[in-house]
Amino acid sequence: MNDTHKMNDLKTVGEFGLIDMISRQVQADSSVCVGIGDDCAATTMPSGHVLLTTKDLLIEDVHFRRCWTSLYQLGRKSAAVNLSDIAAMGGSAHHLFLGVALPEDMALADIEQFTQGFLDEIAAAGATLCGGDTCRSTGSLIVSVTVQGSIAADQVVQRSGAQVGDHIYVSGTLGDSALALAQLQRGIIPDDYLAQRHHTPTPRLQLGQQLAERKLAKAMIDVSDGLCADLGHILEKSHCGALIDRRKIPLSVVTQQHLRQHPEDEELVLRGGEDYELLFCVSPQHGNAVADLAQQLELSLTDIGTIQDFAGGLQQLDSNGQRCTIHTQGFNHFG
Ligand code: ADP
Ligand code: MG
Repeated sequence: MNDTHKMNDLKTVGEFGLIDMISRQVQADSSVCVGIGDDCAATTMPSGHVLLTTKDLLIEDVHFRRCWTSLYQLGRKSAAVNLSDIAAMGGSAHHLFLGVALPEDMALADIEQFTQGFLDEIAAAGATLCGGDTCRSTGSLIVSVTVQGSIAADQVVQRSGAQVGDHIYVSGTLGDSALALAQLQRGIIPDDYLAQRHHTPTPRLQLGQQLAERKLAKAMIDVSDGLCADLGHILEKSHCGALIDRRKIPLSVVTQQHLRQHPEDEELVLRGGEDYELLFCVSPQHGNAVADLAQQLELSLTDIGTIQDFAGGLQQLDSNGQRCTIHTQGFNHFG
């Protein structure tokens, strides 16, 4: 066996060689007193803030296919989906913990690419990798990410604050990620725009923070399971109903073009997940403030409907302007 082969081999480098490789890719950060290499990380948090903590799992062949994504993209997405939860509370992200179960045959170069993607995504959020856990997987690649962030205690935006009459907004466009996935499942290669929306979603951290700081969002969630499912979570926690206008749901040009040719894919807009846009409820008098923020962030924020009484459930005006009830179920792992 030559040296190059040895260098590429996970077995030769071993757990600690790998952790060392990861830690050498990490930039120092002043909020980290003790980082990778001890029993725990020791970190500081902005004073007056409460700690936000969230975790997401990404499992091969459940959440992703290695033949559809690069390891760099997977690294970015593993970070992004977690950062998106911090955004949905209005917080800032600080410290991440990366758990990986690696199939023995994974090339070191792939792991390095994965880590680089992860680090690039968290660097864009101003956050740092502070620890994790590494072990061998007898089967698929498993990624488990924990992120800690923070927010001023009086600014936390929960799912439970929506009130009748509030306007329901969504950032960016919906359905792109689900359309990319549907195409991959049908053996079609999505175009660059759709692929990017699916493989490297953008966590809307700045938007979440601004909505919280300016006290514009009364309830907020990130759209990970689909519009109906995630709006359903807000409605359940806020004990409200809603009326959304199907014609107002923001769609990208690519998705609009696709739906003109394939109207049978319409459901992707309401039920497709993984857009990681923010869905939030705002008092009607704050419409102008939301428009100002959209302009400032150069991000579209679209009013798609209003919060209603609980009794009506979730209703939509369909593409013909007809009112009908819709079901809130989205993706369910055990469904
Ligand atoms: P312990 O036995 O105390 O769990 P480990 O040997 O698992 O410690 O980890 C050693 C150090 O490396 C710890 O600081 C841990 O947080 C860090 N670490 C392990 N795996 C990863 C990883 N995949 N990414 C970042 N840090 C990691
Ligand atoms: Mg450990």
